[in-house]
Amino acid sequence: MGSAGRCVILLGAPGSGKGTQAERLSAALGVPAISTGDMLRRAVSQGTDLGQRVDGVMSAGRLVDDELMAEVVAGRLAEPDATGGFLLDGYPRTAVQAATLDGLLEADHRKIDAVVYLEVPEETLVRRSLARGRKDDTESVVRERQRVYREQTEPLVGLYESRGLLRRIDGSQPVEQVTRAVLDQLEGG
Ligand code: AMP
Repeated sequence: MGSAGRCVILLGAPGSGKGTQAERLSAALGVPAISTGDMLRRAVSQGTDLGQRVDGVMSAGRLVDDELMAEVVAGRLAEPDATGGFLLDGYPRTAVQAATLDGLLEADHRKIDAVVYLEVPEETLVRRSLARGRKDDTESVVRERQRVYREQTEPLVGLYESRGLLRRIDGSQPVEQVTRAVLDQLEGG
């Protein structure tokens, strides 16, 4: 199969560079980058019903509940630009979300092709997140998001590894090298 049909997940802690790599890989592979964080931030800034429901949870560095996220992702994956493949940035983040995604793809006779795991040491993550200066990025919120990641999301590494889908990438390399390493891994199968 060519790269156009690819369903790829980007996994990694907050600050690991998922968003940056999602944009770059999207351009290189010709599939949309779907960032649930960006979608939710947009909803908050537009003051939509969804935005009002998630604002407080996001500001605290916690996770939006799985059911609400299922609606958001199901809607987005059903859009025409996602039918030829996509890169998911920021979803799934819990075991329940991973199961939801499997169900959504299965219903469409699709499957996950690869899970790219960007590995970055914790102190680098915190430094990067603070340097980025997003309005929700005070030090205590940054630390809370790391804690939530370790507790809820990191277990997905083992899950996808056991399914033979995990591709480990050294995310502490310069941006261009990370992109190249990911593309090499994806091309290698
Ligand atoms: P991100 O930009 O991916 O770090 O996402 C920013 C915030 O949006 C997170 O800290 C969560 O509050 C929320 N969020 C994004 N994606 C998810 C998800 N898959 N599940 C739950 N909450 C999410």
